[in-house]
Amino acid sequence: MGIMPTCKEIHHLTSDRMDRDLTPVERLRMRLHLRICNACTIFFRRLILIRRAMHSLAEGGRSATDRDAQ
Ligand SMILES: [Zn+2]
Repeated sequence: MGIMPTCKEIHHLTSDRMDRDLTPVERLRMRLHLRICNACTIFFRRLILIRRAMHSLAEGGRSATDRDAQ
């Protein structure tokens, strides 16, 4: 493990992040890498977008049920 994380490591951390909390060191390495690597920034943003879309779909389903209940 060098000072700068590789793209492969960042991709790994990005998907790990969905399942578990990253350690402060992992988060720092990720942030440092994203600052210098455009490819990973795009990859990371896309994942966040997908996750947010899935989340809002789930929330939309919930609030629709709430509205029906009122
Ligand atoms: Zn990268």
